Amino acid sequence: MDPVRTFLQTFGAPPEVMRFAPGRVNLIGEHTDYNGGYVLPCALSMGVTCLCRRREDRKLRLYSLDFPDDGIIELDASEPELGGRWTDYPAAVVRSLAVFGAPLTGGADLMFKGSVPPGSGLSSSAALEVATGMALSDAFGLGLSGSELARIGQLAENRFIGVNCGIMDQFASALGTPYNAMLLNTQTLEYSFTPIDLSRAVPVIVNSMVKHSLASSAYNDRRRECEAALSALKSRLDKPTLCAYTPEEFESIGGVIADETVYRRARHVISENDRTLKAAEALRENRLNDFGRLMNLSHASLRDDYEVSCPELDFLAETAQNAEGVFGARMTGGGFGGCTVNLVEPDRVESFVGMIRSAYLKRFGVEAKAYI
Ligand code: ADP
Ligand code: MG
Repeated sequence: MDPVRTFLQTFGAPPEVMRFAPGRVNLIGEHTDYNGGYVLPCALSMGVTCLCRRREDRKLRLYSLDFPDDGIIELDASEPELGGRWTDYPAAVVRSLAVFGAPLTGGADLMFKGSVPPGSGLSSSAALEVATGMALSDAFGLGLSGSELARIGQLAENRFIGVNCGIMDQFASALGTPYNAMLLNTQTLEYSFTPIDLSRAVPVIVNSMVKHSLASSAYNDRRRECEAALSALKSRLDKPTLCAYTPEEFESIGGVIADETVYRRARHVISENDRTLKAAEALRENRLNDFGRLMNLSHASLRDDYEVSCPELDFLAETAQNAEGVFGARMTGGGFGGCTVNLVEPDRVESFVGMIRSAYLKRFGVEAKAYI
């Protein structure tokens, strides 16, 4: 289906702008982005495209080629009318624009076409938010930068959708480029790119097809536990975020955290931050075995200390870690389902995908999908 033609048929006039924002896969640095730490995501070639045309009135008409239920939103409605539907995301972005001091001066027709599998930890929601922001910024001449679009998307998700996520997803979507790992300091928003040498290693994503539900209480529990850990650590050594503590400092003062679960949560976050910096360095120096080992350690820490994995992800990661030609494998994204990311030798990719899909089918009776 040609989106431009569908736009014309749906709204009766052609779009004025069309913008694409990618989903992302996080190579390493999980659950560090709301603790002031480093992350290492990579933009995907899959993403969300937003087509947009301004309107004379104050209505926002929303249509997706991938989801049923189009919607009409009145820009001047005082009460939020978010109701757990996909249209909440673009509506939330419009509200965030106003909070950022860039309110829309008129209505718009918006149409979306996505290729990121939703609810799989590849951040279709961030791609949707950023694509919306980009298209509206262009159509209304708002001149928003990538970093502003990322913060507007995050605010939309935090304040209006009710998912208390960090900045990684929206930032990777707004400023990332495919085949380049982005090392992002989520505290300062400084970032740099390292190309992934695809002649030596290919990131392969395997979708467990288990839907995560990030908005679930488990995610908010983790955030509370991180806050509890930070306030305990502060009583011995005052630092602004969990990731500001080095593993050595944690080793010496971590005992101040009385609750064993909270202690393990902090141990994950602080060690993961350290692994992320080491992994970025290994990638820069093309030490792929080291990079892979850090991925494997990350998975174990997410499984045992942070407890956000699930049997399906554990099976996929462990099967991959034991396979020929795999540098490393780990769950990626918030957890409780979604995808694993695997770093695989180029000439092993095809056999790896065949092997892991059939092993998964045999064990869980489910067809896993792979994205190369
Ligand atoms: P993730 O971000 O990991 O993919 P989320 O649950 O955060 O998962 O976001 C998924 C939601 O984003 C979908 O349920 C839907 O509401 C919205 N969404 C994603 N892609 C599209 C699309 N192409 N069109 C409309 N809504 C979309
Ligand atoms: Mg999301």
